[in-house]
Amino acid sequence: MSERILVVEDNERNRRLLKDLLEFGGYAVTGAETAERGLELARQSPPSLILMDISLPGMDGLEATRTLKSDDRTRTIPVVALTAHATAHDEALARAAGCDEFVTKPIDAIGFAEYIGRLIAAGANTPLRPES
Ligand code: MN
Repeated sequence: MSERILVVEDNERNRRLLKDLLEFGGYAVTGAETAERGLELARQSPPSLILMDISLPGMDGLEATRTLKSDDRTRTIPVVALTAHATAHDEALARAAGCDEFVTKPIDAIGFAEYIGRLIAAGANTPLRPES
């Protein structure tokens, strides 16, 4: 059974791109358009990893990550922040919220699925850089 990734992203094009990349890399992918739906899915059936867009309608990705990391059912799931905002301040906010990794959009498609595989293997709270 392949590992499953939950992609929480409100932009349909980005969600589809991530789904295609990850499915091509051998993963099963579940998409959620909102943080609220993502939290519900993560609790029902914890995925191997969550890709979390930070900018979402309603609850944002930071609040959703804080919620995941404060819940015993979901705290060990690695969360990768996805954002178009690439400053050190944005990264610090994401890490403070509990995001295990931070990826700037547009994502680099080459090697992305392999990168996700390394993060799953490393588990939560074990920072790795994309080039490592
Ligand atoms: Mn968004």
